[in-house]
Amino acid sequence: MSAAADEGSPTGHAPRTERQSIGYCPYCSEENLFPLEGGGWECRSCLRAFSVVFRGLVSPSRTREVSS
Ligand SMILES: [Zn+2]
Repeated sequence: MSAAADEGSPTGHAPRTERQSIGYCPYCSEENLFPLEGGGWECRSCLRAFSVVFRGLVSPSRTREVSS
């Protein structure tokens, strides 16, 4: 899984949302996180590798019901 390359965004530069460091592992809550090559993080406590994906912006008004 090395398909982390950006595909030429129309704006020329993609927001580096996944470049920010993460404080805790989302799986074991430890802080032994190290950046992976090609994007993502690896936790050396639970030996999981994961990445943070930008899913878009959310509306400020989050009080409305989410209808599925
Ligand atoms: Zn972990």
